[in-house]
Amino acid sequence: MNFFGHVLGGDEVPSIDGERFDTVNPWTREPWAEIALGSAADAERAVAAARSAFDSGPWPHMGRAERGAILHRLADLVEDHADELANADTRDMGKPHSVMHAKDVPRAASNFRFFADHARLRTSESLPMDSGHHVYVRYEPAGVVAAIAPWNFPLMLESWKIAPALAWGNTVVLKPAEDTPVSATVLARLALEAGIPPGVLNVVHGYGPESVGEALTTSQNVDRITFTGESTTGRAIGRVAAANLTPYSFELGGKGANVVFADADLNAAVSWSNRAIFTNSGQVCLAGSRLFVQRPVYDEFVARFVASADALTIGDPLQPETQLGPLASETHFRKVSGYLDTIGDDGGKILTGGVGDGWSVRPTVIVDAPTTARVHCEEIFGPVVTVTPFDTEDEAVALANDTRYGLNAMLFTDDVHRAHRVAARLRAGTVWVNCFFVRDLRAPFGGVGDSGIGREGGDYSREFMTEPKAVVMEIRDAIDPA
Ligand code: NAD
Repeated sequence: MNFFGHVLGGDEVPSIDGERFDTVNPWTREPWAEIALGSAADAERAVAAARSAFDSGPWPHMGRAERGAILHRLADLVEDHADELANADTRDMGKPHSVMHAKDVPRAASNFRFFADHARLRTSESLPMDSGHHVYVRYEPAGVVAAIAPWNFPLMLESWKIAPALAWGNTVVLKPAEDTPVSATVLARLALEAGIPPGVLNVVHGYGPESVGEALTTSQNVDRITFTGESTTGRAIGRVAAANLTPYSFELGGKGANVVFADADLNAAVSWSNRAIFTNSGQVCLAGSRLFVQRPVYDEFVARFVASADALTIGDPLQPETQLGPLASETHFRKVSGYLDTIGDDGGKILTGGVGDGWSVRPTVIVDAPTTARVHCEEIFGPVVTVTPFDTEDEAVALANDTRYGLNAMLFTDDVHRAHRVAARLRAGTVWVNCFFVRDLRAPFGGVGDSGIGREGGDYSREFMTEPKAVVMEIRDAIDPA
């Protein structure tokens, strides 16, 4: 089997103690690659490499055009190696290869291009003061950024963290999820090829608690923690990061509401609602896993929605016709299928779906579940949706907001006044009206409540990845403050 090491200080290396682990292809259920299994000592090595590259290397002081050109080169290399990167994530977690080519790889490349340009263009503000002084703002790199990533969009989410960190002159230690390690090593190799100096982007593999992940979050040499993962993990990281007052940004779990009003274009609503819950086999923080449908169209919508769920092709993620792969791991399959077993106690009826072959769960539609049922309240992170009818706009808003999460919500209506009214009342970081997962990288991305702390994207990433400094200048004998 191929071996993928840590990438530390520009070298691909095994762990200090030589430990390795296998990464398992969830479709074949066989190991397919061997990975260096890091420990806290490897995490310390990674932080030391990033620290040294920040304190004495060229990257933080490089001109923005030069840094940007290198990141553009990395974006080009990501596209040139699309197949290798697609294979890595497909084999690690079962995402269809065709989706990697169509979505994840292009998005990773555009993350690098966008943040390279953003950092070059959004450099500073100058604020003239009535007193005749003026203030200008310097966005100075924060230092060493620890990026801890989940397994559901490995390449896409890792590049979403690394790109702004690098663009603003930081050095990075990336810890990919233990289920999806391979694309991170491939990306770090490409970064070196693009000309990113050794030590600027380091990758260390291993587990979270009492291992690599925890060592990164407790290190006094880390200046920022950007974490995407479960809300409970966010709480654990927040507790330990507080000891060093290390700033963090958390993108956490979700239980997205998807509200369909009777005046919506039903064809479009069915199609978007299908994508909102079944994309990536439902392993999406943004999944529209609570679907609320206004009563006059409830029966028709449910019938069409079930038909659209049944039409999805589940299978080998390497085959071009496959739309849904298996779940990412055996552990995750047990978690998701375990939720289906709770219906017996909590209430609800499965209209279609259930456990499929191997570690797959078929697109599953549940009706008549009480709003207290676990399948309705908890993040399942699989292709499982509850559908609940409602009568009034007020009721829809109350149902949608009845959750500790608040990452995103969708609403479908052809009434423009209702669209704005309801969007304003939904408690969520993003509201999509008549669409889903449409992103502009300048927009804030993040969640309220248990869905996260902080926002990333555009200027929001800049605020987090830099130490903004105010320089106040006296202008002698100033005539006016313009
Ligand atoms: P997870 O929290 O189990 O793991 C995420 C990462 O954290 C992994 O790399 C893991 O090794 C590491 N980790 C675990 N415990 C740690 C600790 N104590 N200290 C430091 N690191 C630790 O999450 P997951 O199962 O990989 O991902 C699924 C979750 O991620 C879901 O809840 C999903 O909603 C969320 N998610 C959120 C977003 C978002 O943008 N809000 C995007 C994708 C996924």
